[in-house]
Amino acid sequence: MKTMGLLAGMSWESSSVYYQLINRQVQQRLGGVHSAKVLMYSFDFGEVSRLQQAARWDEATQLLAGVGHTLAKGGADFVAICCNTMHLMADDVEKAAGVPLLHIADPLGEAARKAGMTKLGLIGTRFTMDEPRIIADRLRKKFGLEVIVPDTAGRETIDGIIQTELVKGVIRDDSRVRYRQVMADLVAQGCQAIILGCTEIPLLVTQADATVPLYDTMQLHAAAMVDFALA
Ligand code: GLU
Repeated sequence: MKTMGLLAGMSWESSSVYYQLINRQVQQRLGGVHSAKVLMYSFDFGEVSRLQQAARWDEATQLLAGVGHTLAKGGADFVAICCNTMHLMADDVEKAAGVPLLHIADPLGEAARKAGMTKLGLIGTRFTMDEPRIIADRLRKKFGLEVIVPDTAGRETIDGIIQTELVKGVIRDDSRVRYRQVMADLVAQGCQAIILGCTEIPLLVTQADATVPLYDTMQLHAAAMVDFALA
């Protein structure tokens, strides 16, 4: 089994779910008392968030590239960024690490293409929704998928709830109702599925909240890591 290097959540709320998903799947696949070989770097999300909110992307890139390098030096055979937003600097992290990086959009694109999807709605942080280089471009170019995002008010709703509630583990029924409305608007615009393009969103939303399939980037990414580690 390969050793995974995780640049986690970046909030610990999603890091802890990734950790559970990965270990459960390895245990299921290998049986007995097996578990995953994991090096996880758990960030101080306060520091990460400050850089994001101030658009200090160069410093954020340096921070993540440094962590990628440290994980590889510590024995990680591959690395993964457990967060959609910070895939903005995925190439730099892979370069600094010198080992393969498992991109979060790849298992997503494969699953959507396999299911015959052509048009998907993307919800995530405002960075992920506003900046196509993070996820959407890769889905378009590599998998031929059309990706649309909510309108301005919808994007504010989705991002506001991530930044003020979900990264702190705050789960509110009224916020779930607001997410349902934004997802329904995307379906009304012809989306055949919705991408949960933030690794804290599954803390709030489940398949029961939408009338179309939901693609959970955290689940898909974690499963891809296990596949790669066991291949
Ligand atoms: N984890 C989130 C994502 O997948 C956003 C919070 C963060 O910036 O880590 O984009």
